[in-house]
Amino acid sequence: MFSVHCPRHGKRVLLAPDGIEALVNDGGSIAVRWVCWCGARGTERFGRGDAETSPIACPLDADPSRIN
Ligand SMILES: [Zn+2]
Repeated sequence: MFSVHCPRHGKRVLLAPDGIEALVNDGGSIAVRWVCWCGARGTERFGRGDAETSPIACPLDADPSRIN
């Protein structure tokens, strides 16, 4: 799940992964082309440091000392 600002809803909505139309690598940031379940389409950019939420879990950040 990831959240985008849907202009038709006028607020942030949660979209399922099948709401992703395409992932675009946009020179250091990742843009997600999405389609909302209300029919609106848009693009959400997930740059490093300025994303409110990350659409991608990063297991590499896990602390290895906690894995037993
Ligand atoms: Zn919507």
